[in-house]
Order: sequence, then C-alpha cells, then structure tokens
Amino acid sequence: MTGGLEGYDEVAEANAQKSILDIHWSRICARLKAEVGEVEYNTWLRQMGVGPVDEDEITLYLPTRFLRDWVRGQYGDRLGALWHAEIPAIRRVELQVARGPSPAADGDASAAESGAPSAATPPAMPVMDAVVVEEPRTAEVRSDLAAPLDPRFTFDTFVVGKPNEFAYACARRVAERPSSPGFNPLFLYGGVGLGKTHLMHAIGSELVREGRVSVAYMSAEKFMYRFIAAIRSQSTMEFKEQLRSVDVLMIDDLQFLIGKDNTQEEFFHTFNALVDAGRQIVVSADKSPSDLSGLEDRLRTRLGCGMVADIHATTFELRISILEAKATASGVEVPAKVLEFLAHKITSNVRELEGALNRLIAHANLFGRPVTLETTQDVLHDILKANNRRVTIEEIQRKVAEHWNIRLTDMSSARRSTVVARPRQVAMFLSKQLTSRSLPEIGRKFGNRDHTTVIYAVRRVMELMEQDPAFAEDVELLRRMLES
Ligand code: ADP
Ligand code: MG
Repeated sequence: MTGGLEGYDEVAEANAQKSILDIHWSRICARLKAEVGEVEYNTWLRQMGVGPVDEDEITLYLPTRFLRDWVRGQYGDRLGALWHAEIPAIRRVELQVARGPSPAADGDASAAESGAPSAATPPAMPVMDAVVVEEPRTAEVRSDLAAPLDPRFTFDTFVVGKPNEFAYACARRVAERPSSPGFNPLFLYGGVGLGKTHLMHAIGSELVREGRVSVAYMSAEKFMYRFIAAIRSQSTMEFKEQLRSVDVLMIDDLQFLIGKDNTQEEFFHTFNALVDAGRQIVVSADKSPSDLSGLEDRLRTRLGCGMVADIHATTFELRISILEAKATASGVEVPAKVLEFLAHKITSNVRELEGALNRLIAHANLFGRPVTLETTQDVLHDILKANNRRVTIEEIQRKVAEHWNIRLTDMSSARRSTVVARPRQVAMFLSKQLTSRSLPEIGRKFGNRDHTTVIYAVRRVMELMEQDPAFAEDVELLRRMLES
C-alpha cells in the first residue's frame, strides 16, 4: 500500500514483524473459531491470510471477491475488534482479494465461485505474503452429503420467546414427523443471526439421532459449488442421484441462489423430485418467498406451498433469556445487571450478543476476576462503541462542509485549492476513523478518488494536528459531534 521498505535491514525487520503478526493471528483465529463455531469458521474464515500493517490498518487477504465481501459484511467489525484487542494500535482491517500460498484444496470447488477474477497479485514486499492458516480437514469438507451439523445447535440450546416460538414449533414438528402434509417444505426466514441455521441444525441432529433418516444439510453456496464441481468433473448425474436419495434436504440461506440461474434450475428440479417422492425439504432465507425477488416464480411459488415461518427481531426479554441460558451454561457467574446492560446495548442479533458474552466469559476465566459492569464496559468497549449510532461518510461530509463553510459538492469536486482541499482531507480522515469503510470505499465517496489519496489525507491531517493545536481542536470537536 505504501512504500518505505528500501534497505535490507528493513526487510529483516519486516520479516520479524510478520512472524509477530502470525502469532497474534493464530490467536485471533482460535478465538474466531470459538465464537462463530467450526462450521462457519471453515466456510468463511479459514482461507483468510494476514498481510501488512500500515499505520493503524492491517490488511487481510481472502482468495475471492465473493468471500472478501461476505467476510467484510459479516465479520469486518469483529475482525477489527479482535485485532485491536491484540494490538491496540490497529484500528482498521482492510480486506483484499489475494490468494495466499495454496490454501488446502478441499475439493468443494470453492475456487469456482461467482466468476471472481483469478485473484489480484499479492503485493511484492516480503512482509506482504499472505499467510494461510492451516487447519486440519474437518468433516464438512467431505464430498459426500453427510450433514456437517454443529453439535451445539440443538433444540435444547435454543431459547424460545415470542419472536421465534412459531418457527421453533414448526422446526420441532418437522423433526418429529418429517414430510407431514402442510409442513413440506418448511421455509424459515428472518434477519441475520436470529437462529435460522441453529434451528436447521437442530432438526438435522434430532433426525440423525433417531438414526432412521438420511439428512443432507448445506448452505445454498455450498450447493452451488458442489453443482459447479459436478459439472466440471462431468458427474452431474451422480450429484443428482446423491441429492435425490436423501430423506431430508436442508438448504440454508437460499437467497444466495438469486441470480445464479443454472443452480436455481437444478435446485428446482431436485426440490420437485424430492417432494414428489415424499421427502422433506427445509429451506432458510433472509426474506419470505414472496419477497425474494430474483428467484424464479415457479420456485417461489413452490417454496411458499408448505409452511412459512418467520423469526422476528429479538425482544429485550428474549435477549435476556438467551444471555441467562448461555451464562448458566458457561458456569461463570454474570450479574443480572451485566446481562441487562448487554441486552440493552446489543440489539442487532443473537450472534453479536453471544459473541459479547463469550468474550466476557473468556476474560473472566483468563484473569480469574469476577464479571462486573466496569469490566464489561472495559472488555467490550469496541463492541459497545460499534453498537452506538453509526456515522456515515455522507454525514461526515455534511458536518465538515458546514464547519468550514464550503459546499457539500466540493467534497467530491476536483477543486484543489486549500480552502476546499483541507476540509476534504479532514472528512476523509474522519471517515477512516469513524466508519468501517475501507480506503477504496472512502476514496470512491470523495469523487472517485484513489485510495492512496485517502492515505495521503489521513497522514496530512495527522501531521497538521501535531503542528497546529487550533486545527487539532477543530478536528477533535468535529469528531466528538459526529460520535455523539
Ligand atoms: P442465522 O442463521 O439466522 O443467521 P444462527 O442460527 O447462525 O443465525 O444464530 C447465530 C447465533 O446465535 C448462533 O450461535 C445461535 O446458536 C445463536 N442463537 C440464535 N438464536 C438463538 C436462540 N433463540 N437461542 C439460543 N441461541 C440462539
Ligand atoms: Mg445462518
């Protein structure tokens, strides 16, 4: 990203820095895995590699654009928080597409994904080699269709409340009596992190435990990769037969099939064949069948034919119950006040709530200190901050433009006079500090400027803040206004 490694000593230094980063990185990976679970970790995060640190930003690599976008959306904040916890100077994570040295090929054709270009060339400096964290192969990457079910996701560990009781009841019913009329297909939908995957795994585990039926569970992307891999290896017949031989087929996050016409078509045929043969289908998505625009009409219609159950956003009561259940299971005593505080502060989804509690518990175990409101605020400061109001780049631009009395359009204009260039740089600096947007994204919002321009702006503002206390005060003031 930036230059500066001219001499040999610096190369040696860079290598030393890299091995230190690797140590931090393996710790972070272990934590991530504990937080998100093996299945999710292997699906999304395993192939991530660590890159260079530039000032307060660390670069991480993912092999495809698709994975990069997904990881950025789902785990971007968490990665930032984990890095910050390891190395406080790091405040941002930049995710880039680059292929690290040979991630263990796992035969599920994940490389064949959504037309991602054959990865950007990894940067040339030694410190920038992507490191791929090697993991032992686990069950879910086998090529057969045996369900990679997370043993933690059972009906017993699912906390029921108003927002999810209907979905829960339907899931239980399907687990007890698969393929009963009216419940086939079972379509579960709701926002991210509200328990769809949990319920599907619970259905699967229950059925597998009974040992009478064969269950195939996979995410829609996995379905797609498998299908693409089958086409490549000219084994589509085998793939179809395998799928059509199961008693229960569960496809998670069906919205991923939107725009993937061939895969959708294949799914549609599989779906029909199975339902016609009296087998059970369970599908989850982020929206109801009728709102999944982009799915073929005939598929949408069929998906809506059985039971459609939505999981609503959590209520305060449900969040408390979930926290209580998880705290009890952990064996660490967490005061009611702390649980209430968390349930108030973290409202987005159960995954985040769980992540926060896990961190508290890990912290308590590690240091052998009781959990209190103070330790909570301290240990979770980054999560709590991220759950405060999120500032957008547009807001920053508006406030900064107002402050220096320039036109909002000058934030993206090509004018270079200091009168407008300086406020623009401040706005870029604040965007970097207060949002989780990446440098290129910030650049784009400022009249399609290059990310190097943003880096330059950040540096310049930092220098000026050191040299000029009045300017520093201005910037600080703006920052506080935007943050509150
Ligand atoms: P989704 O698939 O809807 O995005 P998940 O099923 O992956 O969400 O849930 C995210 C996390 O939250 C999982 O660890 C899951 O166990 C937990 N979770 C969600 N809802 C509940 C619940 N009602 N009770 C207990 N844990 C839950
Ligand atoms: Mg899910």
